[in-house]
Amino acid sequence: MSGAPVVVVGAGPVGLTAALLLARRGLDVLIVEKHAEPYPLPRAVHLDDEVFRVLQAAGVAGEVLERSRPFAGLRLLDGVHRVLAEFRRRPEAGINGWPQGSFVHQPDLEEVLAEAAASTPGVTVTRGVEVTGLRQDDDGVSVVVRDGGGERSVRAAAVLGCDGAGSTVRKLIGSSMRELGPADRWLVLDVRSPAPLPVWPGAHQVCDSRRPATFMPVTGDRYRWECRMVPGETVAEATTPVRLAALLAPVDPHAVEIVRAVEYTFRAQVADRWRAGRVFLAGDAAHLSPPFVGQGMGLGLRDVHQLAWKLAAVLTGEAGDDLLDSYQAEREPHARVLIGVALLLGRLMTRGGRAGDVLRRGVLAVVRRVPAAARLATDSRTPPLERGPQVQRSGRAGRRLAGTLVPQPDVIVDGRRCRFDDVLDQVLDGADGAVLALAGPDDLTLRPVGRDRPLLRVHDGDGVLTRWLEGASASGARIRPDRIVRAAVPRRRG
Ligand SMILES: Cc1cc2nc3c(=O)[nH]c(=O)nc-3n(C[C@H](O)[C@H](O)[C@H](O)COP(=O)(O)OP(=O)(O)OC[C@H]3O[C@@H](n4cnc5c(N)ncnc54)[C@H](O)[C@@H]3O)c2cc1C
Repeated sequence: MSGAPVVVVGAGPVGLTAALLLARRGLDVLIVEKHAEPYPLPRAVHLDDEVFRVLQAAGVAGEVLERSRPFAGLRLLDGVHRVLAEFRRRPEAGINGWPQGSFVHQPDLEEVLAEAAASTPGVTVTRGVEVTGLRQDDDGVSVVVRDGGGERSVRAAAVLGCDGAGSTVRKLIGSSMRELGPADRWLVLDVRSPAPLPVWPGAHQVCDSRRPATFMPVTGDRYRWECRMVPGETVAEATTPVRLAALLAPVDPHAVEIVRAVEYTFRAQVADRWRAGRVFLAGDAAHLSPPFVGQGMGLGLRDVHQLAWKLAAVLTGEAGDDLLDSYQAEREPHARVLIGVALLLGRLMTRGGRAGDVLRRGVLAVVRRVPAAARLATDSRTPPLERGPQVQRSGRAGRRLAGTLVPQPDVIVDGRRCRFDDVLDQVLDGADGAVLALAGPDDLTLRPVGRDRPLLRVHDGDGVLTRWLEGASASGARIRPDRIVRAAVPRRRG
């Protein structure tokens, strides 16, 4: 391994998380951020429980939880705000060990991540420095940066382009965005209210094809409204007193503070190339999602969770370079599915004119009454990763488990109750996987792959992991550092 650090371009949520994850795997990281100060305005407001596990792996989930609000679910409303359907999410910890959905103020999340980065040995954050060029050779990458003192070059073992939608790194590696759907202009309105507003603590989607809108209480005194703008409309036209009163109803616009009203163009795009040698794209630099399933940032955090262990394994000589080929191969199809779901939901909830409004009422009345359909709408689980060298989906057990996340219940180790992922990290300690195996009634063992260390006995207090394995006819599972099942061990007959 060269002594040079991994350079992370961009101190947004994805870059900061990447730095924390890489540092936990023993790598030195240099974050290069062009802005002198963090971006102060809200953007993302929703995180699901799978993504909370990434924050847990980065060591910040507890702090983020304290600054977030559990998400009660999704209410679909008609044009006069009558409830068409309601899909509840459980506020208490679910299968992933965290609330199924949480609201968060993105600057709060970034503050927690930045504080963690500043106090993590091996991570250096430089602000007011812009990346303008890259040159690769056999030993790594020379990164050209510009700051107040002019241009200079920094050596890097690898570069992560976490530099957002307008990514310079993407352009420098000759990668281009591919459109997956039409762009959509929305008004985004951030509001603070000194008195709590009488709103249900979940996301509301106004399914009115003439004026589709979304609103939600974020955290503390913060609220968010978003509504689709009509062609040619300006922000001033969309926020006249009459229009604001209609959008915020029944809330009185005079009783709240409008923090900002801004136009955003939501795009559905995926980069055609996520890697060139030792340079990688992650987060908005690699994909952009419309907001309907609240996954834009979540996709980026998933990217760096798997990229961090793969890159660390290759840079420390534990794995061959081909492991890095599986990064885009695994992440791109997953991102495409979730962006596709966001596009589809957006169309279903907001398009089709008056006929669409009538159809929606009928379909939603049925969906609401059919438990299986309602479960689909309320489950936060995202699709499994596709089959590949790192996801071996063979046999019945493999088809059920490989590519999915292992559940995260509380387990008992040496008489102490702990979260399963924390136990997994302790066992992994640099290994690129661990084998979880049934060992008796609600007892399991965990051992690292390729390391000569004793088995760890894990008591499955509530039987969640035991039922998960037995339900798939498996006696064990090989789990990757990003909590994804690489392969299942089938149960022997007889
Ligand atoms: C209105 C709105 C609502 C949203 N709602 C949600 C939601 O509910 N849930 C969700 O998951 N996502 C949501 N998103 C998306 C989410 O905000 C983004 O996906 C997320 O911010 C992307 O993080 P990132 O770190 O990839 O990029 P960014 O946050 O854009 O950070 C990139 C960083 O790179 C820096 N940079 C750029 N170029 C250079 C360079 N050449 N050199 C050095 N630094 C550079 C930038 O200054 C910036 O700090 C929403 C977005 C918007 C706009």
